[in-house]
Formats: sequence, C-alpha cells, structure tokens
Amino acid sequence: MQRCAHSLVFARSHGSMEISFAGKRALVTGAGKGIGRATALALARCGAGVTAVTRTQADLDSLVMECPSISPVCVDLADWEATEAALRGAGPVDLLVNNAACATLQPFLDVTPEQFDESFNINVKAALHVSQIAARGMKARGTGGSIVNVSSQASQCALRDHAVYCSTKGALDMLTKVMALELGPHQIRVNSVNPTVVMTEMGRLGWSDPGKARAMTARIPLGRFAEVDDVVNSILFLLSDKSAMTNGVTLPVDGGFLAC
Ligand code: NAP
Repeated sequence: MQRCAHSLVFARSHGSMEISFAGKRALVTGAGKGIGRATALALARCGAGVTAVTRTQADLDSLVMECPSISPVCVDLADWEATEAALRGAGPVDLLVNNAACATLQPFLDVTPEQFDESFNINVKAALHVSQIAARGMKARGTGGSIVNVSSQASQCALRDHAVYCSTKGALDMLTKVMALELGPHQIRVNSVNPTVVMTEMGRLGWSDPGKARAMTARIPLGRFAEVDDVVNSILFLLSDKSAMTNGVTLPVDGGFLAC
C-alpha cells in the first residue's frame, strides 16, 4: 500500500512519461508476478482503474496489499468457461494487456502434446478470448480502446528448446495483426511488445546459467537483458494516446537483438 501511494506522488512529480490514464479502466492478465504485476501497478499509478487477473490467490492478496485500488480476479485463463464467468463481473475495459503466458522448455524431439496444448491455451487462446470479451464491450460502447499483447523476441527468432514457446509467440504476433485489422474500424488499436530476456521468474527459468546468459547478451547490441520497467514503459506507450496512430505493430524491446 505504501509503495503504491508513494509511487503515485513520484509519478505525478515526474510527469510519469506525461501519460495519464485517469478515467480509464484497465485489465492486465498474469498480473501476479513479473511484467504483469509491474504493469498493473504502473497503470494504477497513472490513474487507471485496474483489474488484475491471475491464477494464484496469494499473489493477488499481496498485490492488493501493495495497491488497494486494484480489483483482483483469480482464474486459470486456460479454462475458457471459468474465464468467461470470472470476467463477466469485471466491468468495462478500455485498456487490455494480455500478458499471462507459460514457458516450458523442451528439445523439439521431446515436445509432448500436453505441453503444446497448455502453452497454446494460455499464450494464444486466452489472449484471443480475453480480447474478444474486452473488445465486444469497447465496440458496443463506441469508445474505442487499446490492447497490448505481450509477445517475445522468440516470436521472430528461433531459440533452442523453445519450439512450442516460439510457436505460440509467432501465433500471437499474427493474432495481433488480424485483430488490428478487424478492430481498427472500431477505433480499437492492437499492438504487441516483443521483449528480449527479462530476469523475472520466467526469465530465470531459461537464462540463469551464466554461459547461456553471456551467449545471449553477446547477441544484443545494447549488451544487456531488458529490465521489467523497459517493457512496462513500452506497454504504457502503446496503451496511451501517445501512440494514437500505431496499430498492428510488434514492437521489439530487445536492445536491437532482432535487428541483427
Ligand atoms: P512470470 O514472472 O512467470 O509471470 C507470469 C504471470 O502469468 C504469473 O503471475 C502467472 O501466474 C500468470 N499466469 C500464467 N499462466 C496463467 C494462467 N493459466 N492463468 C492465469 N494466470 C497465469 O512471467 P514474466 O516474465 O513476467 O512474463 C510476462 C510476459 O512476458 C509473458 O507473456 C512472457 O511470455 C513474456 N516475455 C517474458 C520474457 C522473460 O524473459 N521473462 C521475455 C519475453 C517475453 P502463476 O505464477 O500463478 O502461474
């Protein structure tokens, strides 16, 4: 709670990128940890009413302790019906961040159907479903909106042991573009951010090994992994009117990795 209140003052005194979401309602999936949690807190600091969706109640409890204005929703987004029911009461959404994802690494020859289905269910199908729910409301109200899908550099560059993860993020990039095409006429913009490695719980899973990490940072012109805030700032930009004419882009937040 203290951090949320303190940050609000900080955000005001520093203009918070001069972005204000006052009067807007935002929904962030996977808001319990990592990038999603930081995004939910940043949106609240910028004045949005925030709904945080994730599947671990303890994470929501600590998030609401940190920022009491956030409304928590606990649901497993892999469950289509449960998601439908859980979001029915969440109210209208102007800004949506599809951030929840899983990353289970397996060599291509060992990929299991269970891993494939679980990953596509969360990383692609849930993003499509939550976007349908939010965008139907935006269209009906005629107020427009902005949707950001959290993709990855892995959508556009092959990474060892990431066959399923890379495929889900490639699918998410294409989903972003088709959504931008179909929802644009309703003044609903849809874009993605495509980060390089970020040392969240997910990042640590694949990149804790110093040799592996060194090999990756060596391929990033800026010579480092992304910080959570690097990604959050790009998400806020794409949600905001500062990017009013940007629609259907996949924005690398990768220090130049995909440019090489
Ligand atoms: P993280 O620390 O693992 O956090 C992911 C969040 O999503 C957690 O709160 C998790 O809840 C939630 N989640 C996962 N499956 C869910 C489900 N079925 N239903 C509801 N909530 C679910 O991951 P992160 O690093 O912040 O990643 C956020 C996004 O950035 C993801 O889309 C990821 O693919 C992308 N990304 C990450 C990196 C990286 O290196 N970290 C790089 C590029 C892109 P539980 O913990 O309870 O499962």
